[in-house]
Amino acid sequence: MQDYYWLYMTTNCTCFCLCLASCRELLIFNYCTIFSFIENRIMNHTDIEDKPKQSNSSCKNQNFIDWDEYFMAIAFLAAKRSKDPCTQVGACIINEDKKIVGVGYNGMPIGCNDDEFPWSKNQESELDNKYLYVCHAELNAILNKNSSDLKNCKLYVGLFPCNECAKCIIQSGIKEVVYLSDKHAHKNGTIASKRMLSAANVKYSQLNPKNKKIVIDFNEIDWDSMYQPALSPAPKNVS
Ligand SMILES: [Zn+2]
Repeated sequence: MQDYYWLYMTTNCTCFCLCLASCRELLIFNYCTIFSFIENRIMNHTDIEDKPKQSNSSCKNQNFIDWDEYFMAIAFLAAKRSKDPCTQVGACIINEDKKIVGVGYNGMPIGCNDDEFPWSKNQESELDNKYLYVCHAELNAILNKNSSDLKNCKLYVGLFPCNECAKCIIQSGIKEVVYLSDKHAHKNGTIASKRMLSAANVKYSQLNPKNKKIVIDFNEIDWDSMYQPALSPAPKNVS
C-alpha cells in the first residue's frame, strides 16, 4: 500500500523538498496556506519549546505568534470551511510533540449532501433542523486523526465542547482542551460536559490570546524582494 501526501508551501524552495524523503508526490502552490501536518513536522523540530536563542537574537523575527495562538488559529481557519450559516467551529488536535494530528470543523457527515440536509435551527419539526445531522468540529477532528491514537493529546477549539463531544474527547484519550468561547456555559449540555471532563481528569482552560487578530493575507509577502542566498556549489566527489 502506497502512502501519498500533498505538500502545500508558500514557495517552491528546493531545500524543503529534500527534507521530504517520505513524500511520493509533491504539489507546490506558490500562494497556498500553510497548515498541513507535513509542514508542521518539518518546521517544528527546530523550535518545539519556543526558547529564546542566546545568539543572533537581534536578527530573529520577534513578531511570531505563540503555540497556543498558532493552533487556535488553525482551528479558526478550519472553521472557515463550515457550511453552517450561523455557527462555524473548528478544532485542532496536537500530540505531546506539538505535531498536528487532527483537524476538523462542523459539517454534515460524508455522503450527506450540504445542499440537501437542513441548516435551519428553528423549524417546527426536529427533522428539519440541523441538530440531528451535523457532526461537530471536535468529533470530526478526532475521526480525522492521522495517528494511531490520541492518548495525552491536546484539543484546541473555538467553542467549549458540548456533552456529546466531551464523551468523544474522553474516550479518545485526549487529556486537555483549550477553548476560546464559553458562551453556552449556562446550558445543561455544557454543565454536563464539564462534569464529565473533570471526572475523567481532562483539563480545560480558556485561551486569552495576546494577539486578538491574526490576518492571513496571501499578498502579504513580496517574494521578489526577499533575500535569497546563492546556492552552495555542489560538493566534488572525493574518491
Ligand atoms: Zn459538540
